[in-house]
Amino acid sequence: MRFFLVSIFFISTLAALNVNISDSTILNGKTALIELEKDENIQYNEISIGKKKYKIFNNPVNDKKMYVLIPIGYYEKPRNVQAKLTYKEKNSDVSKTLFFHIKDAKYQKETIKVSNSKVNLNKKDLKRSAKENKEATDIYNSVTDKSYISSSFILPMESEITSSFGKARVYNETLKGYHSGTDFRADVGTPIKSCNDGVVVLAKDRFYSGGSVIIDHGQGIYTCYFHMSEFSVKKNQKIKKAQIIGLSGKSGRVTGPHLHFSAKVSGVQVDPMQLILLMNEKLLIKQNYKE
Ligand SMILES: [Zn+2]
Repeated sequence: MRFFLVSIFFISTLAALNVNISDSTILNGKTALIELEKDENIQYNEISIGKKKYKIFNNPVNDKKMYVLIPIGYYEKPRNVQAKLTYKEKNSDVSKTLFFHIKDAKYQKETIKVSNSKVNLNKKDLKRSAKENKEATDIYNSVTDKSYISSSFILPMESEITSSFGKARVYNETLKGYHSGTDFRADVGTPIKSCNDGVVVLAKDRFYSGGSVIIDHGQGIYTCYFHMSEFSVKKNQKIKKAQIIGLSGKSGRVTGPHLHFSAKVSGVQVDPMQLILLMNEKLLIKQNYKE
């Protein structure tokens, strides 16, 4: 995957604002990074796209920089987008517009056969899955302002990827959304690592995702590990990168044992592999990079 660094310098009357965008064209399901250099005369407020607001955070490894992740939802249509950056410069309110283009990622379709009871839900299962969905949505939408991470992300296991993010999914001939994560080939009982430091915010068995662990890495970034057979962590437990959080399995709606690994940014489901690459190559580098 390639990233382009587009540098936009806004010359205002008082100072030059230095903003970097990882990529001016973003595919649906992917994440863009906006980096801002700290300046003693500037107090950044937020970035907004339409009604959506994005907090500006301190870079976890570089105290001269701040950043915003802009996750583009899977169902976002191709279009031009204007992001409004607001800040105070020497006590006056200023806003600048950044321009993006959302492009269709053209994800493929895949057909999956699963037990009919996991496609056509009875009342009890519907109620259960709705409750679990609400619980997870509340987690993903809550943002911890501090970051728990201090170094790059790793993958939860070294294994073959059997299904990538974004494939449109046809379950037993019915189109039911898209593949929301990356699947790793894993026999039942394969150890799963936390991909970075964080806090466990959910560790329980769920209807669709089976044995599930969700980790908060701070600043709106969550990673999720599904279909597990065993947990070795508990809710509210602080964990370190590469710590074993449990074992892979075949629980929930699956066709066989594997690890489903996914990520959320500010409540939006994004391609976890692209997020990790973006974070590791652009954000979590100690030195300032120059074009
Ligand atoms: Zn999966």
